[in-house]
Amino acid sequence: MIIRIWGVVQGVGFRPTVYRLAKRLGLRGYVRNLGGMVEICINGDAREFLDLLVRELRPPAKVEGYEILPGECEYRDFVILESGGEPGMIPIPPDLAICDECLKELFDPNHERYLYPFNSCTNCGPRFSITLRVPYDRANTTMGVFPLEGKCLREFTDPNSRRFHHQAISCPGQGPRYFLLDRNGLEVHGNPFEIAAKMLEGGSIGIMKSWGGMHVIARISEARRLRILLGRKQKPFAVMFRDLRTLEKYAKISEEERRILLSRERPIVLLRRRDRGALEEIAPGLPYIGAYLPYSAAHHVLFHHFTEDALIMTSANPPGLPMVIKNEDALKMKADFYLLHDLDIANRVDDSLVKIVGGKTAFVRRSRGFVPRPLPFRVQGNCIAVGAELNNVGAVSWKGRVYATQHIGDCDNPETLRFLEGAITRLMEMAGAGNPECVLMDLHPRYNSRMVARRLAERLEVEAIGVQHHFAHAAALLAETGVEEGVIIAMDGTGYGLDGAAWGGEVIKVENGRFQRIGSLSEFPLVGGDLAVRYPKRTAFGLFRAAGLEPPFEYPELWDRALKLAPRSTSMGRFLDALSFLYGVCDERTYEGEPAMKLERLLLEERWDSGPEPEIGYAGGRKVVELRPIMEYVSEGGSAAGAVKAALDGLLEIALDEGMRIGVTGGVAYNVPIVEYMKKRIPDLIVHSTVPPGDAGIAVGQIAYHSISSR
Ligand SMILES: [Zn+2]
Ligand SMILES: [Zn+2]
Repeated sequence: MIIRIWGVVQGVGFRPTVYRLAKRLGLRGYVRNLGGMVEICINGDAREFLDLLVRELRPPAKVEGYEILPGECEYRDFVILESGGEPGMIPIPPDLAICDECLKELFDPNHERYLYPFNSCTNCGPRFSITLRVPYDRANTTMGVFPLEGKCLREFTDPNSRRFHHQAISCPGQGPRYFLLDRNGLEVHGNPFEIAAKMLEGGSIGIMKSWGGMHVIARISEARRLRILLGRKQKPFAVMFRDLRTLEKYAKISEEERRILLSRERPIVLLRRRDRGALEEIAPGLPYIGAYLPYSAAHHVLFHHFTEDALIMTSANPPGLPMVIKNEDALKMKADFYLLHDLDIANRVDDSLVKIVGGKTAFVRRSRGFVPRPLPFRVQGNCIAVGAELNNVGAVSWKGRVYATQHIGDCDNPETLRFLEGAITRLMEMAGAGNPECVLMDLHPRYNSRMVARRLAERLEVEAIGVQHHFAHAAALLAETGVEEGVIIAMDGTGYGLDGAAWGGEVIKVENGRFQRIGSLSEFPLVGGDLAVRYPKRTAFGLFRAAGLEPPFEYPELWDRALKLAPRSTSMGRFLDALSFLYGVCDERTYEGEPAMKLERLLLEERWDSGPEPEIGYAGGRKVVELRPIMEYVSEGGSAAGAVKAALDGLLEIALDEGMRIGVTGGVAYNVPIVEYMKKRIPDLIVHSTVPPGDAGIAVGQIAYHSISSR
């Protein structure tokens, strides 16, 4: 039986009381915190147990209500589950931000854990990032090499302690330790946090080891020097603010954003920045800033010594490679100092990144705080999926559950590919997954992730099957929302189409488990192929030519001759890139999505009430949104918002003709003004809230496609 109890039930010794009672009665099962409630599962009579429990409770613990649900307990003993642990599913909890009680200890000068940078308890701290193998026992974590004795051991074995069975427990003196190295790798003696804070205030750039990886840290005014050091021309940096009040000086925060910023998953949140010159160098040309709050005890200790408002805290990785996790690799980063510790990182796990779009959480990266929890919906089939290429993630489905790996990165180098394969393999172990039916991959012949798919398929002796990119996006959206059929508008930078063209502005109808491309933007040439992705002026040229118009700017003659051989695209992302050039926002892409992201600022400012009527034509057996009226409108001085609105109106018109529910997915679904406009037109628009709309959601989408299409 399962009993759920609410009232004053958390942080008041409730679970230890339940534990002692269950042990005394010889029952098996578990107790855990669940949201604001406590959930108990026992192999005995629930009412009898409740009666006894109420008599045992001591104030302030108080039962205000309960419910009893049927449920089985396949446990050999009675256990207290870690928060975030899901019974009967994955036994390894994610890394969760330091809890209020641990924080109180951290700043209590009389407490033995005063300013102890590894302070954590059963409810908080690193877990996934330090777990080498299942089951989740101390010996299977990297904390296992540190002794568990004396007071520490007493807490671990005392059911009344907040650290009862806390596998990652550690104590000052016998746990891991932080130390500070100078630029030559020599240890600097003294309080490492105090010295690091002074150095940061003096303008030094440092590397700080955290839970699942390392960060480059510097004060905000060092952004320019940091760009040179890291070779990042324009790419935005994440910033950690001292606290919420301080952050409010720099950014506008909605209720929902506040909730997420303070959540125990504690992701980076993209917030509308207030117009402050100080942040321009952090996120050049962007209307948002990636902000988060301290999540580890060590962050709090650093901010205790550091006096300024915020620190740039962005993942430390050599260009294009995964985040650094080993101390010796950190020392190659040419920083002024290194604030490291001697607890090994078993699993690299980048900070999660979210943006509130149209009132819903859109995950850009679903990583620390969430992985390895399963996604909150079910699918059919036991599969492995390797995803797409950029910003990639892998996924595993087993017995109806879907698990996504942590953020992997861009699959354009052997190291990232090894990381992808290793992360999928470890996730299978953690999920207890057996041999899959198949390995799923993208159709793009040049995607390196396909090599990983083939290797896995060979090793597991199953087939590697390709899934069309936008079908995967659409399937992910349907699976996570539980909508069975609909018309999904999938808009992104690029995805390999069934006809070999670069799709990305697609209308996909899903009915009876069948996926069909019923419409798209009209095709246009990408002059110079990949060069057009880098220099959006080339795409703008292609758009005018496809519309049968003369471009309103100078261009090399050569481009006209290159038209014939140019790859064809229907991508909304490329269309936005071109507008970004045409409206003087961005003429070179130095990081993924840059021109379209910078255009968002303009689209937020402009009014969305003008623009040409869309024209729908036919090509290649589908409906297409004609480019001519849109490009004419642009060259006659129309607004960027008007041009985008016309393209969206065209896609929506095609979708509305089907009389089904309509959804939006793909990287363009991070664009706030675009999604808000679509929502205004389609109030019940289906949008993502758990699977990333961008390519980080492709692996889960491949699994969802397999599930939906084999129904
Ligand atoms: Zn805690
Ligand atoms: Zn995509």
